[in-house]
Amino acid sequence: MTEHVVIVGGGTGGAVLANDLADRLERELDTGAVRVTLINDGPDHVYKPVWLYVPFDQREPDDGRRPLDELVDDAIDLRIDRVAGIDTDKKTLRIDDNASPIKYDYLVLATGSTLEPDQIPGLAEGGHDYYSESGAIDLRDELLTFTEGNLVLSVIGTPHMCPAAPLEFVFMIDDWFRERGLREDIEVTYTYPIQRVHGNPHIAEWARPIMAKRAIQVETFFNAEAVDPEAQTITSMEGTTLDYDLFVSIPPHRGVDLIEDAGLGDEGWVDVDRHTLEAEAADDVYAVGDTADTGVPNAGSVAHYQAGVVGQRLASKVRGRPPTATYDGKTLCFIETGMDEASFVEFDYENAPSPVPPSEKLHWSKLAYNEAYWLTARGLL
Ligand SMILES: Cc1cc2nc3c(=O)[nH]c(=O)nc-3n(C[C@H](O)[C@H](O)[C@H](O)COP(=O)(O)OP(=O)(O)OC[C@H]3O[C@@H](n4cnc5c(N)ncnc54)[C@H](O)[C@@H]3O)c2cc1C
Repeated sequence: MTEHVVIVGGGTGGAVLANDLADRLERELDTGAVRVTLINDGPDHVYKPVWLYVPFDQREPDDGRRPLDELVDDAIDLRIDRVAGIDTDKKTLRIDDNASPIKYDYLVLATGSTLEPDQIPGLAEGGHDYYSESGAIDLRDELLTFTEGNLVLSVIGTPHMCPAAPLEFVFMIDDWFRERGLREDIEVTYTYPIQRVHGNPHIAEWARPIMAKRAIQVETFFNAEAVDPEAQTITSMEGTTLDYDLFVSIPPHRGVDLIEDAGLGDEGWVDVDRHTLEAEAADDVYAVGDTADTGVPNAGSVAHYQAGVVGQRLASKVRGRPPTATYDGKTLCFIETGMDEASFVEFDYENAPSPVPPSEKLHWSKLAYNEAYWLTARGLL
C-alpha cells in the first residue's frame, strides 16, 4: 500500500521538506511505497528576507520569487490549491466543496504567518510595512523621497516573523540617512510592546547601547491601540501618543484559520511537542516553521532545521522504524547593523544568543546566504 505524505505550504519549511523527502525517500518514491504531495496556494515560492532590502531600493521583489515547479524535485506531486479544512479523525483535507477530499497518512503543516493590520484601527491606512511584498514596494516609494521629519517604526504584537528584522531596519535606516547627509533632519523612533527592545533579553541588552549611540529614540512598553492617519499620530494602550511623518509598522501576525478550526492550536499556531514537532492534538500531524508553536523565533533558518528533523522522522515512519531525530531549538540569524555591516547569532533551547561584533564580512555573508538560499532550499548545499 502506498503511504501518502501531504505537506501544506510551499514556503521555506514546506519546500525544504519536500526536497529533503525526495532525497531521503528516493527509493520508496521510485517503487511507489510512498507518495509525497506539496500543496501551496500559489505557483511561486516566496523568499521573504529579500523584502528588507526593497525599501532601500537594493533588491527587487522578484528577487524573492521562483516558480515552485522549478524549485521542488520532480518526484514530488505539486498541487496549487488552497487547503480550506482539515479533518484529523478521517485524515483528510478539504480544498473546496466541489473537489474530493485528499486523504493523508502523514500531514505536515507549513502554512507560515499572515498579517492582520485590521486588528489596529487606522493601521492599514496610516502605516507602511516591509513584511509583505506590496508593503515593501509602497514603503520604497515613500522612503526614497523622505528627507525630513519623524520616522516611527512600531512593533505591534509578538510573535512576528524574524524578530531581528525591526532592529535591522532602524540600524539600516540610520546608516542610510547618515550616508545621504539627512540624518540631522530625521528623527528615528523605535517602539516595542514589552519593557525592552527585543523579546530575547540577551539580544535586547546587545541592541540597546547601539541604539543609544545612533540616537535612535526608544519607546518600550508601547502597545499600539490606534493610528490616526489624518492627524499622523499613533497612540498606545499605555496612553502615549507619538507624532509621525512616516510610520512603519510590523503588523500583528497570526497563523491561518484552518489550524484553529481543526482544533490544532490557538491563533493559527499548531501546539507541538517542541522536540518531535508532532501535533499535541492529533496523530500523524507535524508542523514546521512559523506555524509550529515551539517558542523559538519565527525564522526561515528555524523552518529549515525543523524540516530536516521532520524529514528524518517521516522517513523512519515510512520504513516502519521508530523515529529518533529531534529538534534542539537551533536558530541562526545574521543581523544587519547598518548598510554594510552585520552581526550574527546562533542559539538553541539550551544556549542563549550572544551576538558577535558587527563586521563587513558578516554583512556580505548575509547577502551571500540570501543568494545561496535557492540552492539550500533545493537541498543542493
Ligand atoms: C522582512 C522579513 C525579513 C526576514 N528575514 C529573515 C532572515 O534574515 N532570516 C530568517 O531566518 N528568517 C527571516 N524572515 C522570516 C522567514 O521569512 C519566515 O520565518 C519563513 O518564511 C517561515 O517559513 P514557513 O515555511 O513557516 O512559512 P512561509 O515561508 O511563509 O510559507 C508558508 C506557505 O504556506 C502557504 N499557505 C498558507 N496557507 C495555505 C493554505 N491554506 N493552503 C495552501 N498553502 C497555504 C503560503 O502561501 C506560503 O507559501 C524574514 C521575514 C520577513 C517578513
